[in-house]
Amino acid sequence: MENTLMPVLLLTIFFAVILPGINKKPRVVAGAVICFALITGCNYAQTGQNNQATDNQVIENQANNGQINVVPAKVISVVDGDTVGVRMGQAEERVRLIGVDTPETKHPTRSVGAYGPEASSFTKSELNGKSVFLEFDVSERDKYGRMLAYVWLEKPLLGSNSEIRSKMFNAVLLLNGYAQLMTVPPNVKYVDYFKDLQAQARKDGNGLWGLTGAGSLGGKYIGSKKSDKYHYPDCEWAKKILPENVIWFKDVSDANAHGYKPCGICRPE
Ligand SMILES: [Zn+2]
Repeated sequence: MENTLMPVLLLTIFFAVILPGINKKPRVVAGAVICFALITGCNYAQTGQNNQATDNQVIENQANNGQINVVPAKVISVVDGDTVGVRMGQAEERVRLIGVDTPETKHPTRSVGAYGPEASSFTKSELNGKSVFLEFDVSERDKYGRMLAYVWLEKPLLGSNSEIRSKMFNAVLLLNGYAQLMTVPPNVKYVDYFKDLQAQARKDGNGLWGLTGAGSLGGKYIGSKKSDKYHYPDCEWAKKILPENVIWFKDVSDANAHGYKPCGICRPE
């Protein structure tokens, strides 16, 4: 509309100031010209709005093209906190949830993690018998042949932050402290969201993060549940970690997978 104001203003001045001095016929012509200018101006403004609506439509369509692809499945068993059995059509599959690691409950060679049974029963109560939607990342299976997936409790629309927090079970496990972050490239689609969720769970002391002595299974490196650094056990900073905050890592990749970074003082490697 802005573009039309100037000519209309000029014509109005012409009509009001200059024309009264001239005869009647040009006055009628000028009136017609002003009407024409106004109508054209309004049409132009409307066309502009239409263009904007078209742009919005395009953005919406682009977003829809980025829609999350999921496969419906039914959870028929729960192995532990982060592994479930599902039925997909006629096939039965074992599914390992991406990006999370719940304390072990059934591992033959490792001792039972302090929070494993809680994580396991939480997953049972939330997923067993439920219809879910599986989303896959870059690699579809791990070396044990298990499917690797994000488990959506409801069909996701665009995967917004709030949707992830409320509808994706992997995220629910992290946020409630039933699992720790475990990043295994190339399946890293949601890793930034997951880091935030774990940081929040740790800050709020949810689940295993609020547990005294949780994760104290021994290992090569030590970290604190209150920070994201890992150390050699003899580092001066490691010695300041309170017993109830101690968490152990068996190696560098274990520490990295849980979102921990090397201490700048003892430089564990
Ligand atoms: Zn250190």
